[in-house]
Amino acid sequence: MKIYKFGGASLKNAEAIIGLGKLILSKHDRPLVVIVSAMGKMTNAFEEMVNAYFKNRNHLIKTLHLIKQYHGSIVNELFDTPQIELETILKNLYSEIHFFFQNELHNDHAYVYDQTVVYGELISSHIIFYYLKSIDIKVNLIDSRNCIKTDSYYRDANVDWKKTVDLINHHVDSDYMTLAQGFIAGDLKGNSTTLGREGSDYTAAIYGYALDAKSVTVWKDVRGILNANPKIFEPTVLINEISYREAIELAYYGASVIHPKTIQPVQRKKIPFYVKSFKYPHKAGTKIGLGHKIQPKVSCFIKKEKLVLLKISTLDFSFMIEKNISEVFGLLYQYQMKVELTQNSAISYSVCFYNKYQRLVELISVLKQKFKVIVNRNVTLYTIRHFNQEAIDRVTGNGKKVLLEQRGQETVHFVCV
Ligand code: ASP
Ligand code: MG
Repeated sequence: MKIYKFGGASLKNAEAIIGLGKLILSKHDRPLVVIVSAMGKMTNAFEEMVNAYFKNRNHLIKTLHLIKQYHGSIVNELFDTPQIELETILKNLYSEIHFFFQNELHNDHAYVYDQTVVYGELISSHIIFYYLKSIDIKVNLIDSRNCIKTDSYYRDANVDWKKTVDLINHHVDSDYMTLAQGFIAGDLKGNSTTLGREGSDYTAAIYGYALDAKSVTVWKDVRGILNANPKIFEPTVLINEISYREAIELAYYGASVIHPKTIQPVQRKKIPFYVKSFKYPHKAGTKIGLGHKIQPKVSCFIKKEKLVLLKISTLDFSFMIEKNISEVFGLLYQYQMKVELTQNSAISYSVCFYNKYQRLVELISVLKQKFKVIVNRNVTLYTIRHFNQEAIDRVTGNGKKVLLEQRGQETVHFVCV
């Protein structure tokens, strides 16, 4: 059993979907499970619809209309003949979305999000299913909401592994090729859940784990995993091989390689994980597995922008010790800041974080009642794995001011303005 995953960029128009069909035909990987996400930027459009549900109903109808148009034009291009069955299914899916927004009143944003955003994947998988059948590929479509069971922590649901492994094995017929949606799952109450943005990599790993797959391959619009985001650092180097551990570290520090939860399930079963280009499917891409830590040995660069750096010290010149620090940390947790880096010296404690829910002003006013606080807004955090002086110069050059530096054996961080 092998697992393939195609994300939004590899499904963004009819041409890309035709390419997917050719790729599956050219590779004789059977049995096979193919995981697909929503097409193109459709998840963003669905998110917009959910926001509109709470704020602006007119905009909701407009966005739904655009979503229908987008998929409609892909369907028109994909098929020469009318697809009555598919059209009926799509019509029903749109009616369900419409019905939910018209008739159900909810004020839990995350719940509404999961009940509706999942349609991006449902629509996508149905179109692809009928397309694959039209080019004579034998395929079964299953619903990941019936296979991956989670808790009800909407938008970032946690997998119930035992139930999930049983259900996947029950639903996947290993004589066939199976098509399933990424990103979406179901809770025990029968509601839809999702696994977090870009979560379909994780879905591929879940199916891989449950089915003891021989490999998991993610087909992307890039050559594989690069040592930096080419939009930020040039030139970049393709990483040929990287260990599970190293991939987890990179994802953890924020490299947008793959969804951070993806690696652990495949690592547990030692399943090789490939990141390949769907445009150049014969090229090797990147292999994540046992073996080489990182090959070639290059520095990896990660940049996170729009963070906040606070330097906190006591008002009475006493030291920043456990009691004070735990109080500061308690407040960071309470105000839902996403902490990226901390550093303490005898008299001050620095913390760099992402102001995820725009609660910085509140946090600072509470902190100022007890501490002296110096605030730096809009700082950038650079992380370099496997650094050397040249890599450091590359990051800290160009007149940047370094506000904080932290070095470990393999990782160095710089907070800059
Ligand atoms: N469609 C979802 C998203 O855009 C999941 C994914 O693409 O992996 O976040
Ligand atoms: Mg996507």
